[in-house]
Amino acid sequence: MNPGTGILGGTFDPIHYGHLRMADEVGAALGLAQLRLIPAGNPYHRAAGAQPASSTHRLAMARLGAGEFSRLTVDPREALRAAPSYTVETLTSLREEVGSAPLLLLLGADTFATLPTWKRWQELFGLAHIVLVARPGVDADAALAPELADALAARRTGDPGLLSGGAGRIYRQAVTPQPISATRIRELVRARQPITGMAPRAVIEYIEFHDLYRN
Ligand code: ATP
Repeated sequence: MNPGTGILGGTFDPIHYGHLRMADEVGAALGLAQLRLIPAGNPYHRAAGAQPASSTHRLAMARLGAGEFSRLTVDPREALRAAPSYTVETLTSLREEVGSAPLLLLLGADTFATLPTWKRWQELFGLAHIVLVARPGVDADAALAPELADALAARRTGDPGLLSGGAGRIYRQAVTPQPISATRIRELVRARQPITGMAPRAVIEYIEFHDLYRN
């Protein structure tokens, strides 16, 4: 058991089984007391493609998706803010809530590689442990930015017991590969193709009802 809180942030546009099963498996493997999904607020940056769904829709879908997993809850703190949040700020506000209990920030390998571009990213290690999760299609051996490779070398541990207190460790957790992305889901919906099995039924029905991602 780990008395800590796991956190999976994301745009969740939409939430899918890649997010949900990964978070649920990490929660089970580490025996986490809590696991919170934190949908990003508006606006968030997307390099190309259609307009993002609003934070109201993304929050609603996250709640529907989490409803299938008893271990998962949704934390609306970023989605309810008028401005975008930085992860370092979110973790600071969570830290005030949980006191000295550990925070474990779950990151897929694609997101982990972008860490050096995040605001005050080095401060994250003072606030939380990082749980690094492989993602299908992301090369686990791809070169990381040198400062991130250094941080990984200095902070990595294979001992999950070290995640039960403190902060600043990086731990790799193996999970069942889920080759699903939100980008692919949006492409399929736009092309009027089925997305059955990629996200919970309630999420798919929400997308249909609100006509999301159709153009
Ligand atoms: P998009 O395709 O719009 O970029 P996404 O599917 O990558 O979206 P995000 O909301 O950006 O979803 O991801 C949130 C977090 O979940 C990130 O840390 C990401 O690496 C992780 N993640 C998303 N999909 C998977 C997956 N299939 N397997 C493992 N981790 C995942």
